[in-house]
Amino acid sequence: MFEGLSQRFDQILRKITGKGLLTESQVAETLQEIRIALLEADVTLDVVTKLVDALRQKLVGAEIAKAMTPVETVLKELYLEIVRILGENKSNIQLSSKPPTIIFLMGLQGSGKTTTVAKLAYHFRQSGKRVLMVASDLQRLAAVEQLKVLGEQVGVPVVLPKENVTRPKDMYPDVRRRWIEGMHEVVIIDTAGRLSIDEDLMQELKELKALYNPKESLLVLDAMTGQESVRVAQAFDQKIGLDGLIFTKLDGDARAGAILSIRSVLGKPIKFIGTGEKTDRLEPFYPDRVASRIIG
Ligand code: GDP
Repeated sequence: MFEGLSQRFDQILRKITGKGLLTESQVAETLQEIRIALLEADVTLDVVTKLVDALRQKLVGAEIAKAMTPVETVLKELYLEIVRILGENKSNIQLSSKPPTIIFLMGLQGSGKTTTVAKLAYHFRQSGKRVLMVASDLQRLAAVEQLKVLGEQVGVPVVLPKENVTRPKDMYPDVRRRWIEGMHEVVIIDTAGRLSIDEDLMQELKELKALYNPKESLLVLDAMTGQESVRVAQAFDQKIGLDGLIFTKLDGDARAGAILSIRSVLGKPIKFIGTGEKTDRLEPFYPDRVASRIIG
């Protein structure tokens, strides 16, 4: 996870390993290299500038603790800054005081949305909740069948579209009846994806959101796509409104850029990360743990 950036930090810090107090130019050089490494990892300029400025304040002059070497100081401060950027604390899914808690999962095609619906269902089922999934991604033909199979795997019922139903909103009465009859506590809705953002998709999601009034509207993003996913998230947030994000594919060649940028750009928390294709590969997002992995 985040190998590229961790390796860069490692190379930068190796240059000052074994040194006593850093000279002003050594501090400047180290900060410049950290800046470049972050920009190359696709972190937003604004976030990079804030992070490097905060590090500079800690590293210049008398701030360096006597007991620590420059490398330890840079590592510690870098870690603390990254934790701060990632939002400090774990951000939970909010549960409705009156069940069911409706969770809306949105995302572009291929982001891992349908898989994440099942992962989240499994997560809640593991904590003893009565969960229902709704296969209303009617855009991608295989998505309904995929969720049906995943539902069998995780032991969670799935509402499928009735024959001739082509619009997700037409499934609503059936879905509502099912959650009432089944006394479900958590209802997770898979929604339509597209290859890129388009107005029809946004309109459909907006209408569906108004109908279901979900407690949590979450956007699923592929961690391998870097800055582009920040732009996608901005568009979804402006048009539909988001409560949080889920990044998938952190087991792959994940880029740290989007993960580090999104909170500052959007002001919305990352709630979970996907770390594999299997349905149990979903972890709550702990800023301190992820910061440790980024530092390497
Ligand atoms: P959707 O089009 O957004 O609904 O995407 P899918 O849920 O069908 O996922 C697209 C592909 O990404 C599938 O092959 C999934 O198995 C894979 N995938 C989803 N989440 C993860 C993850 O966390 N790690 C890895 N390695 N693959 C994932």
